[in-house]
Amino acid sequence: MTKKSIKDIKLSGMRAFTRVDFNVPRKEDGTITDDTKIRAALPTIRYLLEQGAAVILASHLGRPKGKVNEALRLDSVAQKLSDLLEMEVTKTSEVVGEEVTRAAGELKPGSVLLLENVRFHPGEEKNDSELAKAYAELADVFVSDAFGTAHRAHASNSGVAQYIPAVAGLLMITEIENLTKSLHSPTRPVVAIVGGSKIADKIGVLNTFLKTADSLLLGGGMANTFLRAKDHNMGRSLLEEDKLADAAEIMREAANHDVNLCLPVDFIVADKVDEAAQAETVTVESVPADKMALDIGPQTRKIYKDLISKAGTVIWNGPIGVFEIDKFAEGTIDVARAIAESEAFSIIGGGDVVAAVEKAGVAQDISHLSTGGGATLEFWEGKELPGIAVLQDK
Ligand code: ADP
Ligand code: MG
Repeated sequence: MTKKSIKDIKLSGMRAFTRVDFNVPRKEDGTITDDTKIRAALPTIRYLLEQGAAVILASHLGRPKGKVNEALRLDSVAQKLSDLLEMEVTKTSEVVGEEVTRAAGELKPGSVLLLENVRFHPGEEKNDSELAKAYAELADVFVSDAFGTAHRAHASNSGVAQYIPAVAGLLMITEIENLTKSLHSPTRPVVAIVGGSKIADKIGVLNTFLKTADSLLLGGGMANTFLRAKDHNMGRSLLEEDKLADAAEIMREAANHDVNLCLPVDFIVADKVDEAAQAETVTVESVPADKMALDIGPQTRKIYKDLISKAGTVIWNGPIGVFEIDKFAEGTIDVARAIAESEAFSIIGGGDVVAAVEKAGVAQDISHLSTGGGATLEFWEGKELPGIAVLQDK
């Protein structure tokens, strides 16, 4: 790691402005349904406290778009954090201002303060320098631990670093190290798997995998788009007509780079995306005009699982089928299980694919589940993420 982290600096007596990702899923009444993101930040928070720092936490929740939104206040997050840390967590009702300045000023080493949802402030997403400065005035050091928002240049995860030294938290280090390893020093053979529905967003990452992977396995809407580019009739399947030329180009490049690009040879098709739908297995040559390919079929599963079982490294983004519906989940679950059973170093990133791996019950057998969606994709694409670029070098 070339970036400085909290392990490289003196923290005792310091106030640490710590950007975390507490953007947790909630029910309509505000109850937190999954506290994974809060748990993921605990090692950093505990380390800072043990080292004698005073911890000022900042996070966003949802999309309040620069206005106060009562339903998106962080009180339930503060309560959950307090339960997990087994200590008091003070929360302010504002993002910055007098109340915050006073609370931060009074904060003792070994204590935790949580600011209100930073996206209530109109300056946050604009990376406003006045707001960034106000954050910086609360603290001596900026700790960046919100990998999930690292691809955004916002005041609390990038702007603040203009005014105080910036170092990585433990979650941020884990993400950077694992993602870097998967790209730059992977154990071969490398099997990359890309599925999901956000096809246009993922063309860039395919170009990276063409350079790093030995095999590239496609599923979901991505596979449908490639098969359409090869003139297959895909019926009413999800695909991106605008990306057919890109798909054709990637297939040519794969051949040039000697990458084994695998597309499904059979599918589970149905006429609606519904548990009650009549599903059938068809080959890629016989997708009915009025149906949609919603999962890979048994032949494809076998081919994909075989490649995964021999892999040294597996990188996966985007589910292979509509895993939310049991009828179309088998391909995704089978792939997840094959990865869990293999000896390979495995790294999985993407909001939905991580949920699928959890549904398959194998999350604990994956080497690294990335906490980023867009951030992970951009990292793999080789883009410089603003939230990482601001970190001091060692
Ligand atoms: P991730 O969040 O892992 O990056 P995406 O957001 O790109 O993945 O896509 C996830 C969605 O893709 C899921 O809701 C899933 O139902 C959908 N999906 C996967 N395969 C298909 C398919 N063949 N047809 C339609 N939707 C699909
Ligand atoms: Mg998604």
